[in-house]
Amino acid sequence: MNKRWSIDKIKEFVEKNSDSKLLTTEYHGFSQKLLFKCACGNNFEKTFKKFKDNKQRKCEVCQPPKASR
Ligand SMILES: [Zn+2]
Repeated sequence: MNKRWSIDKIKEFVEKNSDSKLLTTEYHGFSQKLLFKCACGNNFEKTFKKFKDNKQRKCEVCQPPKASR
């Protein structure tokens, strides 16, 4: 059974599991890019799947995409 995510649950997840904040106010599915605000003040876009499963929870400045680990 697929877990259903709503924008409220995502927002809660983001606040509990990262220092970032969710700026997007509507959620349409895993392929949608959501807009986040990083703790450093930068905004960044990412799908929720990447945010959650790949632990990409910061902007590209704080967490460069090509990090070797
Ligand atoms: Zn940042």
